[in-house]
Amino acid sequence: MRRKLVVGNWKMNGSLDQNRLLLEALVRHLDEVKQVDIAVCLPYPYLFQAQAILAASDIAWGAQNVATHEGGAYTGEVSAAMLKEFGSTYVIVGHSERNGAYCESDADVASKFAIAKQHGITPIFCVGETLQERESGVMEYAIANQLDAILSVSGGALLDQTVIAYEPVWAIGTNKTATPEQVRAAHSFIRERIAALHPGAAESVRILYGGSVNPRNASQLLSMPDVDGGLIGRCALDADDFERICRAA
Ligand code: PGA
Repeated sequence: MRRKLVVGNWKMNGSLDQNRLLLEALVRHLDEVKQVDIAVCLPYPYLFQAQAILAASDIAWGAQNVATHEGGAYTGEVSAAMLKEFGSTYVIVGHSERNGAYCESDADVASKFAIAKQHGITPIFCVGETLQERESGVMEYAIANQLDAILSVSGGALLDQTVIAYEPVWAIGTNKTATPEQVRAAHSFIRERIAALHPGAAESVRILYGGSVNPRNASQLLSMPDVDGGLIGRCALDADDFERICRAA
């Protein structure tokens, strides 16, 4: 039985003062919500702040990216060991805002996924089609390619207990949410693809939906079959919205 998981992706937002208010509000309002796992993925400099405020709560935290290497001469990078030192439970890998703007390749994402697992951090691996791919009927092909980059290098043991986020690129930050039926179809496709290659892992992998989730559409989207929670962008920056989404999950 998979527990639902709701993750806030803060992206490049926040300040010490804003974060303190938001994190303290989450602890006040969400610590009693026991039926779902909750986490926030924030910018690197604020991991220590999340650790200080959330450590005594059930809310987990993590980062939005990780280096492909263990350490050394990689200016500007942050290693999995460093994320672990600040108590990170999760790290987002392969978000479309990174492979678009920062040219991350499938191989990079596969390395990030593997290195996170080696350090005991759960990767949240994002996949999803562009609008053009959906409209030209190659959505499943696009998602399969992204998945196979991980599935072909990771054994079933590496995939076990990980998280995949289905995030159609056209639904991120746009207020164009996928319909519940589109979400259901994509999620079942993803689980079947995993089952074909690593049957043992398919049942334990949690598949989140992300892309313009808000308090009004959360309960319908997150209750679809094969949907194990959500990856939330804008609405994770508002304590009230995020709380309502967590409660709806
Ligand atoms: P959004 O972002 O909820 O603002 O659409 C989701 C994401 O990018 O993870």
